[in-house]
Amino acid sequence: MKTKQQIFLGVLLLFFVACAGQKSDKSTQTITIKKQKSIMIDTNKVTKTEDEWQKQLTPDQFYVLRQKGTERPFTGKFWNSNEKGEYHCAACGNYLFSSQTKFDAGCGWPSFSEAAAEKNIISKADSSHGMMRTEVMCAKCGGHLGHVFDDGPKPAGLRYCINSESLTFEKK
Ligand code: FE
Repeated sequence: MKTKQQIFLGVLLLFFVACAGQKSDKSTQTITIKKQKSIMIDTNKVTKTEDEWQKQLTPDQFYVLRQKGTERPFTGKFWNSNEKGEYHCAACGNYLFSSQTKFDAGCGWPSFSEAAAEKNIISKADSSHGMMRTEVMCAKCGGHLGHVFDDGPKPAGLRYCINSESLTFEKK
């Protein structure tokens, strides 16, 4: 009887180990950004020292763009904006998102279904704060913009969740 109980406990333990392993595999997946139509490609790199960026940017912009900070939801100037135009990098002016791809994700940050041009944005795996996410940055200056998630609208299914502090807006 004791042996049966030991076997049962052993099987149960293996089951939990297998489940934990599966969860771990899933959490390390990163999002593959599908090929998007290129509207404008700006590949001139901007390199400045952190001191130079600090002088150029506001404290809030510096915190988000250069220190990978996150503004509080529902507080930024663009999360609730429906104006037609272009969103550019607040640090270097790179064209990042069109208002045509902006949608209300209900998350409190400006959300876009695609970038203005695939090459204007770079992405990389981010394991900070105990989460596996995909960080997005400006390809021209390396400024932190936010993260991209795979729960956006079809067909691409992407949601670029971007800090307002990283953006400037040009009405068109
Ligand atoms: Fe930039």
